[in-house]
Amino acid sequence: MVELLAGKKFAVLTGAGVSTDSGIPDYRGPDSPPRTPMTYQQFVSDEGFRRHYWARNHVGWRHMRTTVPNAGHRALAELEERGIVLGVITQNVDLLHERAGSKRVIDLHGHYNEVKCLNCGTLFTRAQVHERLDALNPRFTADVGDVEIAPDADAVIAATESFVIADCPVCGGMLKPNIVYFGENVPKERVHAAFELVDAGQALLVAGTSLTVMSGLRFVRHAHREGMPVGIVNRGTTRGDPLAAVKVDGGASETLVALTRSLG
Ligand SMILES: [Zn+2]
Repeated sequence: MVELLAGKKFAVLTGAGVSTDSGIPDYRGPDSPPRTPMTYQQFVSDEGFRRHYWARNHVGWRHMRTTVPNAGHRALAELEERGIVLGVITQNVDLLHERAGSKRVIDLHGHYNEVKCLNCGTLFTRAQVHERLDALNPRFTADVGDVEIAPDADAVIAATESFVIADCPVCGGMLKPNIVYFGENVPKERVHAAFELVDAGQALLVAGTSLTVMSGLRFVRHAHREGMPVGIVNRGTTRGDPLAAVKVDGGASETLVALTRSLG
């Protein structure tokens, strides 16, 4: 990997495996239980589902806020500071790259800290919505026992039937975390910016993702098609492996830290 990347500038594509060392489980990792992702259609068409989602999100959000970047996030911020990494394209919604000090970050799937009204388009911070949810559900979180952190700020809780959802304070419309769900497309301008970032480099580094979804895999295919070498660091196989010049089967954090020692 060092041979591949030495002397080059490159963009980095990251996924859940970069955040596992921060305590956010990777539901697609080799040791993970199977999980059915929620779809956009489920969210907008089923009120019970939506109530359940928001209840879990209400609990999970506070954990997300206290989660801190790990050595892998810091390594990428350092490589950017040194002019080696051009920027990070992440499939994660946890904002940990930003909090680690990375300057150029494209949150491909959005991030947990923004909520959008599907009717009037107004954007709210998750903190604003939290205040309203807290007021509507004064005793809710006190009743929750077993909590687990998930990549999309979910927390696993049982009873959510009594949960009251907040609607848009501007128009009364439906609020949705401004995150790209299954069944939704990444906004075009964001995809465009990500391709530009990849194209600005002389290689592409992929870290901590099995590239299960096309929103990430397409950058690897693009780089390969353009004759740009691709390096992949991930525990377990990825859909991009056949296109990789180098594959390191290992943890993202330790590999990225090792790269900061060996590059430039
Ligand atoms: Zn609205």
